[in-house]
Amino acid sequence: MLSAQTTRSEIEDKIRNNETLSAEDVTYLYDVADINWLGGLSREIADGISGNHVSFVSNLILNYTNICNVRCKFCAFYRTGSESDAYTMTEDQVVQEIAKFYDAFDIRQLLIQGGVNPSLPPEYYFSLFARIRKEFPKIGIHGLSTSEISFIAKKAKLSVKDLLIELRRSGLETIPGAGAEIFDSAVRKKLGRPINSGREWLSIMEEAHKLGIRTSSTMMFGHVESSKDKADHLLSILELQKKYHGFLSFTPWNFEPGNTQLEREGLVLERTGGLDVVRNIAIARLVFRSDLPVIQSSWLTNGISMGQLAIMYGANDWGGTIYDEKVIPATGKQVGNLRKEIIIGAVQQLGMVPVERDNLYRTVKIYD
Ligand code: SF4
Repeated sequence: MLSAQTTRSEIEDKIRNNETLSAEDVTYLYDVADINWLGGLSREIADGISGNHVSFVSNLILNYTNICNVRCKFCAFYRTGSESDAYTMTEDQVVQEIAKFYDAFDIRQLLIQGGVNPSLPPEYYFSLFARIRKEFPKIGIHGLSTSEISFIAKKAKLSVKDLLIELRRSGLETIPGAGAEIFDSAVRKKLGRPINSGREWLSIMEEAHKLGIRTSSTMMFGHVESSKDKADHLLSILELQKKYHGFLSFTPWNFEPGNTQLEREGLVLERTGGLDVVRNIAIARLVFRSDLPVIQSSWLTNGISMGQLAIMYGANDWGGTIYDEKVIPATGKQVGNLRKEIIIGAVQQLGMVPVERDNLYRTVKIYD
């Protein structure tokens, strides 16, 4: 058996020789590697990619419906439709909501996603996206999870490819990484997701990348997964990335158990700690390096202080501003609003340079 020191230097050699890490290497990084060594190496790699720049986007999150027929055990947001707080926004309501923020905050990205709502026809999305593009031309629509896309395709009797072409024609610009969770089917079963939905996530992303539609990637950790499950998850994303380079970013999210079925069943009672959060950020950086150069700080579930630490551990994108987000507060955790001035201040406090970007990661303004 190799000593921890040997494995550490072997991994450093692989990174310097631009070799892909194995699942065993990544499992070692999760289970054994010293956190300070991980942080130093991951920040060094991030420095080589983006120097002292940290990007962020002026973003609006819009959850157009909370009615969903998937009912994941880790989700506190969904409603079945009969509850008093179940809702679906009309096209006019969506437009009014965007208008409240668009000019005041110079919004460049709209993250629009909701539940898998069986009562909404495919035309709802085509018409909505076309109207948003027309009325808010500076906004890039970053929309729909793979679960929503899969359901809308079936409802529209279109292949995923043809649906994506239709959605792009309507105004969809990029696709968020929601729904990735952990790809392993046994984990997904415990999470209450269809067991083939991990493979489906990868295949929908591949279809999008083949069409030239860029997407994000994510991983949700801190629930019932093992280190090996996380290693396989990261390496599956890397494998797809090496084929088309369609992922614009990777965000690791820690699971929030409040008000979820997993919490009620006693499977996960506590959220994971801060060191686990920065370990996941650092490992993602070591696995992806310049193949997937943007790692987001996942500040949304962890707050501004952890967002800053995530940058020190290899993240180079803060993510977006937040105004009136609804999914995380459903777990009982208050997110509040995060204006761009707060992000700029948090990044400058690190001695780094905030760079405002648009939905496609093109520079809008450098705050140096
Ligand atoms: S995570 Fe998404 S798909 Fe799962 S229940 Fe919540 S809204 Fe529905």
